[in-house]
Amino acid sequence: MRQKIVAGNWKMNNNLNEGIKLTSEVVNMVQDELTNGVQVILGCPFIHLTSVQKLTNGTKVALSAQNVHQEEKGAYTGEVSATMLKSVPVQYVIIGHSERREYFEESNELLAKKVDILLKNELIPIFCCGESLAIREAGNHVEYVCNQLKESLYHLSTADFSKIVIAYEPIWAIGTGVTASAAQAQEMHLALRNFIAEKYGQEIADNTSILYGGSVKPANAQELFACPDVDGGLVGGASLKSRDFVDIAKSF
Ligand code: PEP
Repeated sequence: MRQKIVAGNWKMNNNLNEGIKLTSEVVNMVQDELTNGVQVILGCPFIHLTSVQKLTNGTKVALSAQNVHQEEKGAYTGEVSATMLKSVPVQYVIIGHSERREYFEESNELLAKKVDILLKNELIPIFCCGESLAIREAGNHVEYVCNQLKESLYHLSTADFSKIVIAYEPIWAIGTGVTASAAQAQEMHLALRNFIAEKYGQEIADNTSILYGGSVKPANAQELFACPDVDGGLVGGASLKSRDFVDIAKSF
């Protein structure tokens, strides 16, 4: 059985005190209310990680960073390495978010290196992929997203690939309030699972968690999560409100 996951992505929001308050609320609600076995993850900015870790340690909530540098260490002022993240410790790292692809020009090739350094350090990549509206309107969305997987992940051994979490996030649905319909999400998730099966076999594909991201809210989570190939969500805006975020996790 693949793991059901609801991961929050705070992006560049919350000062330290706000992050601590939000984390405490989420941890308390998850501990008290969540009984469906969903793995809840908080994706925090780097400055929050050590404080948040103290609050999540020993609870059902896991911790994620939002980025990592691809090199082991060295003269990369302002960057954070996988070994640093491991030492916090965090368990997950979001990579390849469309905002990083767009504003920081992260390519599929660069992301392949980030995947490698994370796996080397026993950190779980949450690998984001997704198409723009123009690509969808041209009807090339499945091919485009499959190619993102191929160029960043398909160099991995079967054992390494089986550690990856995938987050399909159509760019046109991120932060826009426009959610992909359940049918659109299911179409892509099934296509990705079939594409993974072609390369790594059906068992690995069946065990890969594929999350949907893009304006997930308490009002639409249940319908999206009911899709057979949607294994949870990567949640931006709604992860900044503890009640909404935990209600999303409870939607399974
Ligand atoms: C995201 O940041 O990954 C995201 C999906 O954002 P939002 O939920 O706000 O659309």
